[in-house]
Amino acid sequence: MEKARIYLSSPTMHGEEQAFVEEAFATNWVAPLGPHVNAFEKEMAAYTGCGYAAALSAGTAAIHLALRLCGIRPGDVVFSSDLTFSATCNPICYEKGTPVFIDSEEETWNMDPAALRKGFEKYPNARAVICAHLYGTPGKIDEIRAICEEAGATLIEDAAESLGSTFKGQMTGTFGHFGIYSFNGNKIITTSGGGMLVSGDEAAVDRARFLSTQARDPARHYQHSQIGFNYRMSNVLAGIGRGQLLHMEEHKAKKKEIYRQYREAFAEIDAITMNPMNPDGDANNWLSCITIDPASGVTPDRVMDALADENIESRPIWKPMHLQPVFEKEDFIARRETGSVGEEIFCRGVCLPSDIKNTPEDMERIIGIIKGLF
Ligand SMILES: *Cc1c(COP(=O)(O)O)cnc(C)c1O
Repeated sequence: MEKARIYLSSPTMHGEEQAFVEEAFATNWVAPLGPHVNAFEKEMAAYTGCGYAAALSAGTAAIHLALRLCGIRPGDVVFSSDLTFSATCNPICYEKGTPVFIDSEEETWNMDPAALRKGFEKYPNARAVICAHLYGTPGKIDEIRAICEEAGATLIEDAAESLGSTFKGQMTGTFGHFGIYSFNGNKIITTSGGGMLVSGDEAAVDRARFLSTQARDPARHYQHSQIGFNYRMSNVLAGIGRGQLLHMEEHKAKKKEIYRQYREAFAEIDAITMNPMNPDGDANNWLSCITIDPASGVTPDRVMDALADENIESRPIWKPMHLQPVFEKEDFIARRETGSVGEEIFCRGVCLPSDIKNTPEDMERIIGIIKGLF
């Protein structure tokens, strides 16, 4: 008999989500606006301390609107994390900007402030920086913010993976002029698909809502002075989000416990290192990852294959953007003269199953399979 599937990170519903969705149906608010959308924005603003929030159809849409609000013009350089998901930087291309990728540092796997400084030396007119907090570990966001301020560039924090993670007690996503969160199905809380743009700048968030609903001028007839988007979140999905947000701290605690169990189990295996934590922060541990010393002879593929044979899902680390065929012509800035930190992490790393529904037996199975390879 096939063994029960263990997922990397799948949705976990609790019941309140369905009650909110039923309320949306009962009141016929089945539209990309409505009371759940407004309430979800307020509740997210209260949870993160971000100031203001606009609920959107995806995290990618939120990054796109943030860039639009920065006034990126064709050819403008925008710095992006290199080791991340392509959604971090794709919107730069929607706006016809020029992405330049910044290498990671080893301490948190996130954007290296030293490499970012080098980037501004080469491109002093770069307009914006999009910086991701990978796998929920907060980056060196105070240094990054200071560099952006000095250079007069707008900081956009991609906190898609790091909702609930803090740096020096402050929520990730609230350091930049803009922050974004994702509620995609695999994230720490989900609306099946969705995202949020946040900022302390109320006028900017109002403009994001305007742009996300086709940029209709305040006239009775349909009048448009600008190009808009259809990016607003549905009231049905906002209901799911409100239910999920009630369980945010519980999800975070469970993710942290998964990380703790892996860390403890692999402590005795010298070739395995857990993904790093930022000593100045508190991570949500969205995904637990390992890197493997190549001298051990065990490759990430070997680990992923061994898990897949047992019907267990795992994933490679994000492949750095400067190694992607689609971004082949774009510039890449590293602190080092040769190679890159991000490439090394990619070549050595695996994302382990971090589903909060994992039972103690599931964790034992996963850990046993991996340990058996060493
Ligand atoms: C998931 C993710 C996004 C995109 O969010 P969507 O809601 O799927 O559009 C952006 N950046 C990172 C780093 C992500 O992991």
